[in-house]
Amino acid sequence: MAIRSRAGADVNRSAILAHLGAQGSASRADLSRALGVSPALMTQLTRDLIGDGLIVELDRSSSNGGRPARLLGLASSAGRAIGVKVVADHVAFVEVGIGGQLLRTASEPFDAASVLAVSELVTLLKRFIAGGGDAPLLGVGVGVPGSVLQQQSGVVDSTQLGWTRVPLGDALQRALGLPVIVDNNVNALSMAERLFGRGRGHRDFLVVTIGTGVGAGIVTDGAVLRGHGGGAGEIGHVPVELDGPPCQCGNRGCLEAIVGEAALLRRAREQGILAPDAGMAALRAAADEGDARAQALFGDAGHTLGRALAGVVNVIDPEIIILLGEGVSAWDHWSFGFEPAFRGSLVPGKRGIPVVVESWQDDSWAQGAAALVLATPFDAEGVAGDQGRLVRQRLAEQVSAQDGAGTEASGS
Ligand SMILES: [Zn+2]
Repeated sequence: MAIRSRAGADVNRSAILAHLGAQGSASRADLSRALGVSPALMTQLTRDLIGDGLIVELDRSSSNGGRPARLLGLASSAGRAIGVKVVADHVAFVEVGIGGQLLRTASEPFDAASVLAVSELVTLLKRFIAGGGDAPLLGVGVGVPGSVLQQQSGVVDSTQLGWTRVPLGDALQRALGLPVIVDNNVNALSMAERLFGRGRGHRDFLVVTIGTGVGAGIVTDGAVLRGHGGGAGEIGHVPVELDGPPCQCGNRGCLEAIVGEAALLRRAREQGILAPDAGMAALRAAADEGDARAQALFGDAGHTLGRALAGVVNVIDPEIIILLGEGVSAWDHWSFGFEPAFRGSLVPGKRGIPVVVESWQDDSWAQGAAALVLATPFDAEGVAGDQGRLVRQRLAEQVSAQDGAGTEASGS
C-alpha cells in the first residue's frame, strides 16, 4: 500500500497546482481545507513545490488582523501542456497552463481511416504547437476512443477509429521531439476530474460519459484503474440484451448498441419521430417541446443505463458518480428513466450515492488529454513510463533555468 499512498500524495501535489491555477492565490490553510489534506502534510507538500520552483510565496495577507498568512501562487512560467482529442472525423487541440487554465483551442477536420492518418496528425500538431505561448511545453497528451496498452508507447486499438495496434505514441514522439502520453479518452477525462473537477475531493469515483459511445473511468484510491491491457472501464460493452442489436465491438446487445447516439437515432427514425437526415439536436428539441415518443426514447435509454450502471456501482463501490459527455445536454429526459432503475437496482446500502452531471464543452475531451501531461510530474507509480521521466526532466530544466543556479533536478 506504500506505493498507493505515495501516488495519493503526488496527486495532491497536482491538485495544489490545479487549485492555485483555477482559484488564484491561497494560503496553506485555505489549501488544506479545500483539498482535505492535513495542515502538516500541506506544509510539507508546499515546501517541496516551492523547492521545485512550481509555486512561489506572495505578499503576506493580513486583512483580518490576525496572524498574517503567506499566500501561495503558481510560478506562471513553470510550464504548459497540449491536449489532443482524436475522433473519426476531426481532431481538437487545446493548450493549457500548468494549473489547468485553458489558453488556446483549435479544431481541424481529420480522416482517421486514411492510411496517412498518423502523418496528417503530426502535421496538424506541428502547426498548433507553432502558435503557442512562451512557457516551456512539458509535453503532449493524446486521448483516443479505444484501448491503449501503455501510456508511453501509446499503441492504440480502436474500433471507432478503425485502428489496430497503431503505434501512435512512438510515431508522435519521433516526429515532434516532445514527450507524448496517450490514453483512452475517458481515462484522461477521469484524471482531469481528479485534478480540476468534481473528483477533486474524492479518492474513489466513477466517471461515466454518454454520447456517441458510453464509457467509464474508474478512479480507485486516487488513481485511474487501467486494467491488465489498458481496457478497464468499458461499461459500453456490458451485455444487457440477449440477441440485441449488433455492437461495434462485434458482439450483440451491448449497452452502447442500445443507448449510444447511433442507436437512439436509428430508433427515432424507425418510429417516425425524426426525418432521415435529422440528428441528436432535433431529437433533444422534440423531447424539450413535449413529444412523448422522444421523451420515452430518452427515458428508456436512461432506464437501461441505470440498471447497467447500478451493477458496476454494486461491484466497485465508488463514493460519487460524475456524468459527462455530449449526451448530458438531454439528461433531464434520460434521468426520468434513469433514477428509478438505477436506485432500485443498487444494493440498499449504496442507494444514496450522489450522481452529479457536469457541464460539457467541446474542449472538455482535449482538456482531459492535457491532464495526462499535467499529472505526470507527480506520477509516482510510473504509469507514464519513460515519457513521464521526460516530462519531469523538462520541468526540472525549466526550474534550474529560473533559479539561474542550476538547482538539482528533483524529477525522479
Ligand atoms: Zn460491444
